[in-house]
Amino acid sequence: MKKINPHNCDNISLFRDITQSIKDQSLKDILLSVDSKVEARLREYENKKSKLELVQEIKWSSNKAEIMRKLILNRTKFGLIRKKVKEANKNGKCLYCDLNEDDPLDHYMPKQIYPEFSIFSLNLVPSCSKCNRKKFNTWLDKKGNRSFINPYFDRINDKELLKCEILFANGNPSPKYFIDTGSTNQISEIMKNHVDILDLLIRYEKVSNLAITDYVHKGQDWKTEKDHENLFRKAIKQDLLLMKKRFGTNYWKVALLKSMLESKEFIRFCLRD
Ligand SMILES: [Zn+2]
Repeated sequence: MKKINPHNCDNISLFRDITQSIKDQSLKDILLSVDSKVEARLREYENKKSKLELVQEIKWSSNKAEIMRKLILNRTKFGLIRKKVKEANKNGKCLYCDLNEDDPLDHYMPKQIYPEFSIFSLNLVPSCSKCNRKKFNTWLDKKGNRSFINPYFDRINDKELLKCEILFANGNPSPKYFIDTGSTNQISEIMKNHVDILDLLIRYEKVSNLAITDYVHKGQDWKTEKDHENLFRKAIKQDLLLMKKRFGTNYWKVALLKSMLESKEFIRFCLRD
């Protein structure tokens, strides 16, 4: 998980462009009637972007809400924004799990509750269909805290929130992921909700088993080298730095590689005769 720069554009002009391109006059009139309210809401979103939980829901008539939600079907103008939002995600992986390829655009603040943010570029997060489905219309917990890390505005690059430990069961290594709640603050609370709802710890453990097998094989390859333990550690460290640079501190593989380096038992296991 890494904080990235979102695609930002003149969103209110986009809203007006789409409004003007609509042929049905009654639909156009409805969009014109909400225009200034939508503009005020986009400003509010931008002003509160690091504390989006403070953006209160407002009541729209069901007709107006439905028309705003349907703006995402505009292929030409909204299609271009969709493309740009995805291009801003250079790694092409889901920004919620870092596991699968990004596919649908998730509405960080659900469009079912906030139809006015349906085509707002800052509210669109490239995600995978699994995360998109699991997230659905949730975004706040019972206490009103956000339930998901926002990859555009939450400062997650420097904090080690996702951790891993290698455990040995029946003589074999297996990964155990957890969220560091040592320094309880808002971001670690959000991260806890995030991994719970998206089922991430189990999803990370599954994919890590394969990565562990790879390193066990690599260890066996190094075994014949002189000073093999140092060389093996160095190779893991290099992979770790590369992953950290590409995907950030809270990437599952970064946590995994760190736990490998911290476990003498694991290194010994990989280099065993
Ligand atoms: Zn995902």
